[in-house]
Amino acid sequence: MPRIMIVEDEECIVSAVEKTLASAGGFALTAVRDPAKALPAAISGKPDLILLDIRLPGSDGRHILKALKENAATRPIPVIFLTGMSGEGDKVIGLDMGADDYVVKPFGAMELLARIHAVLRRTRPRGARPTAASSLDAVSVGGLKLDASSRSASFRGKPLRLQPKEFEILFLLASRPGRAHARGWLIDNTSSYGMSVATRSLDTHIKNIRRKLGRARRLIETVPKIGYRFVRPHDRF
Ligand code: CA
Repeated sequence: MPRIMIVEDEECIVSAVEKTLASAGGFALTAVRDPAKALPAAISGKPDLILLDIRLPGSDGRHILKALKENAATRPIPVIFLTGMSGEGDKVIGLDMGADDYVVKPFGAMELLARIHAVLRRTRPRGARPTAASSLDAVSVGGLKLDASSRSASFRGKPLRLQPKEFEILFLLASRPGRAHARGWLIDNTSSYGMSVATRSLDTHIKNIRRKLGRARRLIETVPKIGYRFVRPHDRF
């Protein structure tokens, strides 16, 4: 089971990541709130991956990354930056310093999982990889193809231009065809950390997804009083 360590002072981000990893299953998470404890915790815990916040009280995630990379015991541990700074320079600095990837806050559960899986796939030996990785990274169903790591979507070869939120909602639905999804569950699982999605805006996203799907709009069914369901291909197509 991959062990993930998160270094983050914002409690809402820690609990959102805890929730995401718990619902995905197959991860063990340790949270470090105090930046001074990050290096010792990484040395003693030897996690398989570190999620590292940049803006920490009295510290900077980039300094912690430097310390991790200078220590022989922690050097091989892959690091994903959690950053509120989306400037290109910050990204380059982060990646030049030896971070494996970064996610810009606010980020969604689906995006975080895709990045974790991609980094673990690159860095963990075969056989030690999370089994859910392949099923979580890409969905191909009823002519619809969704790739979470590249965020690309197409229907019968034709690209779909989806907004990030629309992608997440469609990905969740399409990865569990035939199952009815409650509105509340969809909202919980596609909410960007720190940004909630109202029920009405979920319905608006669904409306937009259907419009973009064109004739394939019937792939998403409304389940009265519950929410939405992605039609199993053999049901309709
Ligand atoms: Ca912070």
